[in-house]
Amino acid sequence: MGLWELAGQERAVAALERALREGRVAHAYLFVGPERVGKHTLALKLAQALNCEGVVGAGAPTYGGDERAVEPCGECAPCRRIAGGIHADVQTVTVEEGEEGSQKGIHVSQIREVERVTALKPFEGRSRFVIIDPAEEMNAAAQNAFLKTLEEPPPQVVFALVTADESRLLPTIRSRCRRLELRLPAVTEVEAALLARGADAERARLLARLSRGRIGWALEAADDASLLERRDELIAQARALASMSVAQRLDLAERLAGDFKRKPEALFAALEGWRDWWRDVLLVQAGAEDGIANVDRLAELREDASRHGRPGVAAFVRAVGEAGRNLQENALPRLVLETLLLGVPRAAEPARR
Ligand SMILES: [Zn+2]
Repeated sequence: MGLWELAGQERAVAALERALREGRVAHAYLFVGPERVGKHTLALKLAQALNCEGVVGAGAPTYGGDERAVEPCGECAPCRRIAGGIHADVQTVTVEEGEEGSQKGIHVSQIREVERVTALKPFEGRSRFVIIDPAEEMNAAAQNAFLKTLEEPPPQVVFALVTADESRLLPTIRSRCRRLELRLPAVTEVEAALLARGADAERARLLARLSRGRIGWALEAADDASLLERRDELIAQARALASMSVAQRLDLAERLAGDFKRKPEALFAALEGWRDWWRDVLLVQAGAEDGIANVDRLAELREDASRHGRPGVAAFVRAVGEAGRNLQENALPRLVLETLLLGVPRAAEPARR
């Protein structure tokens, strides 16, 4: 796999290597795939490969000679500057922290700025590289403006649109991009990647299971113990939900809705943690313990599985997913959370014995 180092993404990597080798890199790429599988990382590696000045492997040609580099060296000044986010020709356009109450999203003013910059020659490298991530957050005006740019792409510029939900992009934008699909790697591939990075066997197995293929999370958790601590807290919370009174649930909904304004990603992570737990409970109830993520908590999962009715648990797992989608679509957080949390009794009703 070489220096691209992206477990499970051999197909996308091979397509990029081919384009680089043949000198047929597209003006625009669409990196499609689930969260945390390495879309942004792969886009940055492409930016590095396009600007790399290093010698690739022993005796391999340098970029700029007759032959072309097909993978970034990761060591030269441009590669390092790109990895560090300080290369003048490589920029990421993303959702900006807006004023309170302003519409979230990537706005047309940001796309106009991209237009302005990409009209200029590269400043320090061979090509400009613009990553739009998450691309589906471009609002309608921004997408229309960006479409104009794609229709007449400036020379020496490569765009990388990164998205987990391509359906929210204009078909006319999608059709002008070369599509690269990143898949969710198998748990065994994540485990192998963790072992290759020196994680011990038991930890690699647990993290791979917990990641459900989101390798970015797994690698981060391998280096940062606080992610697993946070997961323990979320499990405790997921379990506690079931025994909360209505008043406690309304309190919690209010508190979480307040936090959501400041740190939306924390709530999405919490919802994911709750869902992971209750999905495991469901798997235990279905006699499919092989498939659980929380492999180190089997005793507690069995306890919850015997305590709660299966239809209620299934309904709650579905409701958590729905709440996440509603929040992403800018529904009122407090309403979404109240609906979700008041629905917990169905998940928590004692099994009829
Ligand atoms: Zn390099």
